[in-house]
Amino acid sequence: MIKENLERVWEKIEKAAIKSGRNKDDITLVAVSKTFPVESIIEAIECGQRIFGENRVQEALSKIEKIKEMKIDAEFHLIGHLQTNKVRYLKDNFSLIQSVDRVEVARLINERAKKINYVQDILLQVNIAREPQKSGVLMENFDELLEFVVNCENLKLKGLMMIPPFEENPENNRIYFSKMRELFLDVKSKYDIEYLSMGMSDDFEIAIEEGSNMVRIGSAIFGKREYK
Ligand SMILES: *Cc1c(COP(=O)(O)O)cnc(C)c1O
Repeated sequence: MIKENLERVWEKIEKAAIKSGRNKDDITLVAVSKTFPVESIIEAIECGQRIFGENRVQEALSKIEKIKEMKIDAEFHLIGHLQTNKVRYLKDNFSLIQSVDRVEVARLINERAKKINYVQDILLQVNIAREPQKSGVLMENFDELLEFVVNCENLKLKGLMMIPPFEENPENNRIYFSKMRELFLDVKSKYDIEYLSMGMSDDFEIAIEEGSNMVRIGSAIFGKREYK
């Protein structure tokens, strides 16, 4: 089932990429494996998937450890809200932390990385729709955070990430994807960044049409989850 799902997702990615004048090789697929067992990850790896997204540090670390023990080649991204008290568990386990959204957490990750002589790739998560309950930096604090992270020796800024509001009709979020693209291009004109991470199972085609080059897809690959 994972195999068919991955094929279906890639077909849709390709169509959306072509619509926006690109091709599927320009898009990075992060398979969001949160809540799913390590067996599902292995099944996806056997179908050619390499990058996985997890939103809880401890859950992720236990899966990463198992994958490493099996000497399977895979990468993990941290995509969930990061509490400051969880930073101490981070080593070089995540090839990309997508959810950096405040100076305090950036400072702690930088210190942690410095201790082990590691340069941690990160994305800044932006709360572009200004949802009060959501994480992500607000635009009025964005420049300060940007300035801070680009001056951290053990952080490497790779791009931006966003999670849109929940919408029955994802078309209503097109405006936010497009705003993120503008911000991405603005930052890219000053710093060497690569990734604009937006688009999940219900809206990734729209996100790609609006310029996303990294999609984070869970349920469309692994099936329904019990919780978010
Ligand atoms: C769960 C999650 C996803 C994937 O959501 P689906 O709707 O299952 O594709 C993507 N990004 C983040 C940050 C998530 O927490």
